[in-house]
Amino acid sequence: MKAIVFYQHGDLAQVRYESVPRPEIGPEDVLLQVKAVAYNRLDLWVLAGWPGLNLKLPHVMGSDGAGIVAAIGQNVTGFAVGDRVAVNPTLSCGHCAYCLSGRDNMCDRFAIMGEHVDGFAAEYTAVPARNLLHLPESVPFDTAAAASLAFVTAWHSLITRGRLQAGESVLIVGAGGGVNTAAIQIARLAGAGPIYVVGSSAAKLVLARDLGADVTINRHEEEWGKAIFKATNRKGVDVVVDNVGAATYFQSLRSLKKGGRLLTVGNTSGPQFEIDNRLLFGKHLSIIGSTMGPMSDYEQVMGLVFNGRLQPVIDSTYPLSDGVQALRKLQAGEVAGKVVLVL
Ligand code: ZN
Repeated sequence: MKAIVFYQHGDLAQVRYESVPRPEIGPEDVLLQVKAVAYNRLDLWVLAGWPGLNLKLPHVMGSDGAGIVAAIGQNVTGFAVGDRVAVNPTLSCGHCAYCLSGRDNMCDRFAIMGEHVDGFAAEYTAVPARNLLHLPESVPFDTAAAASLAFVTAWHSLITRGRLQAGESVLIVGAGGGVNTAAIQIARLAGAGPIYVVGSSAAKLVLARDLGADVTINRHEEEWGKAIFKATNRKGVDVVVDNVGAATYFQSLRSLKKGGRLLTVGNTSGPQFEIDNRLLFGKHLSIIGSTMGPMSDYEQVMGLVFNGRLQPVIDSTYPLSDGVQALRKLQAGEVAGKVVLVL
């Protein structure tokens, strides 16, 4: 079968579109005929690699996918060949203390498809049946693939961990990525507001407004920390969503009002930075981190995608054979929403 793979870590020059063996499935798995794959920045981090990431090579890329069940393992119930499905990309053991308490994204054997094991950028992939949701006929495969990782991550961060309430003011730092475009919509759906969004281009900020932002700030045109200070009558906001990290954390903490929460699921500009601790205790701030989300959150947020109340933004689509070119577009950073491969 054809796939987007790499044989060694490095840059995009290592990525190939070529034939690899079709995967075997275990008794609890289904063989998924992939119909759509969505890329995440995670794919570029995995390609670059890091100490402790030991992949079986070649590695099939892509952490988001949806498709049709092509075969089922002997213990699989609830799904049949031909079913349309969406896939929660978080893998878990199902029996550790975290899994048994419904926190399967904290599983002792936590893994993400496409990060620690083969992903979706292939004609077929093996997926545990308990990661599947039935995908309604009315929902296209590319919508399901584009939503999965970003929406479960944003939902878990804002709603489950962040306990975002109606009427709370929110600042989202970053406008174009999958998680941030999901976060704007989820904040709007939760009744939060005003919703402030800081972005790097006019096009991304127009998109942010379309998705529900009340106030947008172009970080190239004004110092956004000051702009937030001014817009909130020097009080700051209740919640900041910051998945940028090193470049923005200080301003994000300063932008919070007393008792505020900073929510984070990542750090696109770098993971290590200094924090002025006086801000934390002096303003009674909380920093709340999380990664991915449990299956219960996946079901909840995808239910809202399936009924159209949340809608992933798709920047562009490519055939699988152009999967390397699509990664190049993602790396260039000028995307508003998801880059998707359609098979
Ligand atoms: Zn577990």
